[in-house]
Amino acid sequence: MPMYEYCCDACGSRFSRLRPVAERSVPPPCPSCSSERTELVFSRTSAGESGCGGRPSGFS
Ligand SMILES: [Zn+2]
Repeated sequence: MPMYEYCCDACGSRFSRLRPVAERSVPPPCPSCSSERTELVFSRTSAGESGCGGRPSGFS
């Protein structure tokens, strides 16, 4: 079961989850704020974090 990285569009936090491939497009709720506005991100861009959902990375 592969690990996918998601980011929360509400609070901008990122988290990783082990998900079945069939459920990768069904993002889990955010562990920080319980928002369901999370989206799948691809961690291939490990060098530059462009933030979540276009939100500028200014979260503490
Ligand atoms: Zn959140």
